[in-house]
Amino acid sequence: MPASVHASHLKAFQSALPAWFQTVARDLPWRRTDDPYPIWLSEVMLQQTRVDQAQPYYERFLAAFPTIEALALAGLDEVLLQWEGLGYYSRARNLHCAAQMVVRDFGGRFPDTYEAIRRLPGVGPYTAAAVLSIAFKRPHAVLDGNVARVLTRVFTIDDDVKKGRTRRHLQQLADVLLPPEKPGVFNEAIMELGATVCTPTAPRCPRCPVQEACGAYAAGTPEAYPVSAKKAPLPHYDIAVGLVFNDEGEILIQRRPEDGLLGGLWEFPGGKQEPDEALEETCRRELREELGIDIAVVAPFQTLAHAYTHFKITLHAFRCRLLQGMPVSANGCPVQWIPVAALKDFAFPRANRRLIEHLAKQALNPSLFDGAAGPGSF
Ligand code: SF4
Repeated sequence: MPASVHASHLKAFQSALPAWFQTVARDLPWRRTDDPYPIWLSEVMLQQTRVDQAQPYYERFLAAFPTIEALALAGLDEVLLQWEGLGYYSRARNLHCAAQMVVRDFGGRFPDTYEAIRRLPGVGPYTAAAVLSIAFKRPHAVLDGNVARVLTRVFTIDDDVKKGRTRRHLQQLADVLLPPEKPGVFNEAIMELGATVCTPTAPRCPRCPVQEACGAYAAGTPEAYPVSAKKAPLPHYDIAVGLVFNDEGEILIQRRPEDGLLGGLWEFPGGKQEPDEALEETCRRELREELGIDIAVVAPFQTLAHAYTHFKITLHAFRCRLLQGMPVSANGCPVQWIPVAALKDFAFPRANRRLIEHLAKQALNPSLFDGAAGPGSF
């Protein structure tokens, strides 16, 4: 046992914490099953998404793909469309790929050993421990941001929580604290504690079941933990995109390569502004370089800000008209002219979906739309 773990810690985490959880646990759909498929799905969705945001997606996704076989048989476009709006789309691509692997390599039965489950795409130590402990009652402790916050406070650990050495120390502590007879309850309980009581700011210490064992509470310094190095400010880019219409009133979309950011989603073509370049020129240049077409920029359409994990953008959309050329993607990705009404059938990143919503408003109010090329009806 690590030297810093005392009997009072074991009592707090193995007895008081699970007892508290039984009284406060939220009734969530993935807690009503021990089928590893929905449990895995919920864990993947909840990695970057709040419970209240994830729940409708979880229900919709399971209605579309009720079994792991159904998910494996679905097309990637269908899967991405169900995931649209949740972000971090590599999660959806990995889920899809992992479902195919479970069906192909494990006869449709979700693997129940740590080694096998880690072979599935997108399954890291956290997801493996969560699914194994909750669905299969195997003694693996989870370590996510909520757990790290609770442990750094209870054990007053002031090393940088982002460092590998600190994470390994925290994992060791979690492993020691885990009661082997109810690993799933412990994991869910400590995550719930971090999410609802031991919050990043203003933790509710008077309601905390492990308060008696908490070093930061005793010292009056909970908010000093966890310690982490300051993040550099995110870089910012100006992006120009074209809503390009042809003479039939169809709009041009292209699919992003599957292996990068927002991989496999559809988007309006465009790209990054170069130094000293007017945004209209960015739009014309990008469409020439990416798709081999000449366009006329008819009018500014909408400007919006959007933040990704590692950078921020200002997206400048222009309404455009095709002058000449047949669009062919320079990187071999699919390109399509589609009726505006069909935009709902394709999965788009959130910023593009906001442009589509704006387009729908304009279609309802044609006086907002003064150019020759324009949207058809939705
Ligand atoms: Fe967090 Fe306060 Fe509980 Fe300590 S006592 S674990 S700081 S909520």
